[in-house]
Amino acid sequence: MRFIGFGRLGAILFAVVAACVNAETVVLRGGSVFDSRTGIMLPDRTIVIEGERIQSISTVQTMPRIPSGARVIDARGKYIIPGLIDAHVHLVHVLDFARMTGEEILPLFLANGVTSVRDTGDQVVAEKLLANYAAAHPALAPRIFICSPFVDGKPPFHEDNGVSWGTNDPKDVPAFVEDMAAWGVTTVKLYVGTERPVGRKVIEEAHRRGLMVAGHLYKYSAQDAVEDGIDVLEHIDSVINYSFPPEAPHLPAAEEQKQMSPAELKHLDDQIEESRASLDLGNPTARALIDSIVKRKVKVDPTLVVSRNMILLADLPEVLNTPDNLLMPRRLRNFWPGYGPRMTPETLELRRRQFKKYEELTGLLFRSGVELLCGTDTPEPNVPPGFSMHQELQLLVESGLSPAAAIQAATIRNAEAVKQASNLGSIETGKLADLVILSANPLVDIRNTRKIEMVFRGGVASTPASLLKRVPLN
Ligand SMILES: [Zn+2]
Repeated sequence: MRFIGFGRLGAILFAVVAACVNAETVVLRGGSVFDSRTGIMLPDRTIVIEGERIQSISTVQTMPRIPSGARVIDARGKYIIPGLIDAHVHLVHVLDFARMTGEEILPLFLANGVTSVRDTGDQVVAEKLLANYAAAHPALAPRIFICSPFVDGKPPFHEDNGVSWGTNDPKDVPAFVEDMAAWGVTTVKLYVGTERPVGRKVIEEAHRRGLMVAGHLYKYSAQDAVEDGIDVLEHIDSVINYSFPPEAPHLPAAEEQKQMSPAELKHLDDQIEESRASLDLGNPTARALIDSIVKRKVKVDPTLVVSRNMILLADLPEVLNTPDNLLMPRRLRNFWPGYGPRMTPETLELRRRQFKKYEELTGLLFRSGVELLCGTDTPEPNVPPGFSMHQELQLLVESGLSPAAAIQAATIRNAEAVKQASNLGSIETGKLADLVILSANPLVDIRNTRKIEMVFRGGVASTPASLLKRVPLN
């Protein structure tokens, strides 16, 4: 009796569930589709999306019958690229300074075609809540891949709002990494005060659990971190700071610095800044480092946009007064000016040359075969969420990447950095339907990635105009 009863109930339940999962079918007919594996734009393709995944991609000749009841979108004359992934964001601690919460800025990403973000260091409890919110709101927010707090030395560089975990003892590392794995982070982030024994232990423990390790380095040298097996170097500084020949001017040990007068220290500092702007990237130290980055397949995430907009050239009118910034909530814009470094007009020329050197190194890394990512460090000062992704793409192209290579960095390379290449980063049958419909060809001009008509995240469509309305002005 019980068996028969359950069978009937099961049949009814099955019918209800089947009706629920009969998700919408969307057909994008006749657009050009960017293949991020090969970097080629394929003309006249039709994409069928069923539920959250891509069911098929076909040419006019091979197109299957359009399923009845499907929503058909005419994509002729349009260009479809995979959803962009920002490889370097902070959705908690920077916003905390601005008295904001992450969900307020999430629509800005999606409005700019950024369908996933990789957090690179934040308070893990708040990140997890935000990631859950984003998962439940595909029409408002990108997917969020979470990260550990900054692994740092003791005391940590950021002591103020609990974003750091500091230790100088490798014995503390296994329990920490275990805890991070339980929270579901994809990345463990090493920070400026990490010393080599701790860094090496983090890499070993993280790799044992299938996690990625990224580093914004300072004490732990790039040479050592690369040899120890780090996965990603964050910011071009994490490469250029270790590319100087031994004879280049450098700061002496802290004790020695105490013996120097302020004028002597300032003079030395000026020499160091000048040597950064005029560095010969063909010097043996730089060449050996780049060779080992290539050999060990370490990824580099240059984040040129934060170097320009916050660190080096925040005083340029074209950086401060970009129309992108005018769309930011007032609390974010009010917080920005007080947070970055101070700049004086006398150093502008030098800072411009330093930034050019960063771009030159980025181009050299690319030509040498280094896998570059595309990340921004938003919402740091003047790095507007979402919009800065297009600025970074433009800077990568300025550095010598083709538009196709820049988009590959922002899609398939970034998907690999969160170990999601089987789900994200390219438009392929079976993958999640994260894609962006553009009205102009981005391979002709990379600025065309801004010409967004529609964004799909997991098959759910939204438009930039409707998303921007959801962002608070205050
Ligand atoms: Zn960062």
